[in-house]
Amino acid sequence: MYDFIIIGGGIVGMSTAMQLLKAFPERKVLVLEKESRLAEHQTGHNSGVIHAGVYYTPGSLKAKFCLEGNRDTKAFCDSHGIPYQTCGKLLVATNALEMERMKTLWERTEANGLERYWLSAGEMKEREPNITGMGGIFVPSSGIVDYRAVTEAMGREFSAMGGEIHFNSTVTDIEERASEVQVQTRQDTFSSRYMISCSGLMADRIVRMLGQKPSFQICPFRGEYFRLKPEHNQIVNHLIYPVPDPSMPFLGVHLTRMIDGSVTVGPNAVLAWKREGYRKTDISLRDSLETLSYPGIIKVLKQNLGPGLTELKNSLHKGGYLKLVRKYCPIIEKADLLPYPAGVRAQAVSHDGKLVDDFLFVNSARTINVCNAPSPAATSALPIGRHIIATAIKQFSLDTPTDTRVA
Ligand SMILES: Cc1cc2nc3c(=O)[nH]c(=O)nc-3n(C[C@H](O)[C@H](O)[C@H](O)COP(=O)(O)OP(=O)(O)OC[C@H]3O[C@@H](n4cnc5c(N)ncnc54)[C@H](O)[C@@H]3O)c2cc1C
Repeated sequence: MYDFIIIGGGIVGMSTAMQLLKAFPERKVLVLEKESRLAEHQTGHNSGVIHAGVYYTPGSLKAKFCLEGNRDTKAFCDSHGIPYQTCGKLLVATNALEMERMKTLWERTEANGLERYWLSAGEMKEREPNITGMGGIFVPSSGIVDYRAVTEAMGREFSAMGGEIHFNSTVTDIEERASEVQVQTRQDTFSSRYMISCSGLMADRIVRMLGQKPSFQICPFRGEYFRLKPEHNQIVNHLIYPVPDPSMPFLGVHLTRMIDGSVTVGPNAVLAWKREGYRKTDISLRDSLETLSYPGIIKVLKQNLGPGLTELKNSLHKGGYLKLVRKYCPIIEKADLLPYPAGVRAQAVSHDGKLVDDFLFVNSARTINVCNAPSPAATSALPIGRHIIATAIKQFSLDTPTDTRVA
């Protein structure tokens, strides 16, 4: 009998597992991961940005955890010898409308307690000779890292404390009983006092296995990237972001310096026909039918028909994609865009057709389920793990933890 079973070996699951054993070293904790290694899905297919917390609604979990996570991630990297860079981020307004929108973002950064600087067009040009715009906001605390490396370090620490990780273990069914939770994989059945699901793109399916009818469904959005030719590796000094359209849920195509020295362009946001489908041609009948038969997603598609079709067009034609990045970096040519692997975002959508904005948890007597953990959840993984453990302490009436930082 385990004390805790955690489903999912992404960064949220491993952060939770590691901190749980630090808080309760005597407990038996098992991580079940369906792939053959950690971080195979969202955690291993993202932009690698340690976000500062620019965009998030003041007072939301995203705003709080991102700010804390920015510091915690860097401290974790320092103590584990993981390379990262605090290269800062520049938001660029290219027209009068974006200048107006940038003022709102400026107020938001103030409310979220961020250090930031308003730059004129000239000041921006001094920092970034290849970037063109009417003005910008510079946020020094944004950084870059390899989240797979962070997750693997968490996995090593968890294992060193006696935690078990079973790979190739797909959870297929769960039964919550009065005194335990039975978790079935394709090969085995495990008993545990409590269960925590950090299953990303499969979050709603795990909640359904518990016999609950979730009030949301995971909608998979592909994020496609290009990599710039290596001769452009020094094209920018910072992370360069457009000013996002407030009616769109994602941040817009940005230029991202990666920790390996390359620069990526992306990601866009197009509906995926397979939850874990990384190629444009990947289609799953089950996933597609599930997506298209959910009224909430149909509402989202109808409400965003115009921008959705533009994203789709840009996904199919490099030219459209190029136009987005040339708005603020005009020297990039079509031939500079090389292939780069895509990612798929797990975005929860409510029945009434809203993209769930904040991190979302659904709990039952013996389980805690992370149900919406899109960006900036990689940045925020350490505080999310602490939040889960603090919830577990209250909800499951656990003793006082050894590591009191989580209480
Ligand atoms: C394109 C893109 C760009 C992004 N950029 C950033 C960024 O720059 N900065 C940032 O902070 N965030 C970013 N994010 C968001 C970030 O990557 C995610 O929020 C974060 O990785 C979520 O981690 P997770 O552990 O919840 O999910 P995942 O990493 O998806 O892990 C879930 C795990 O659960 C496992 N699992 C699922 N179902 C089962 C089952 N039935 N049985 C066993 N195991 C199961 C999966 O195999 C998987 O390993 C980005 C995301 C995408 C897609």
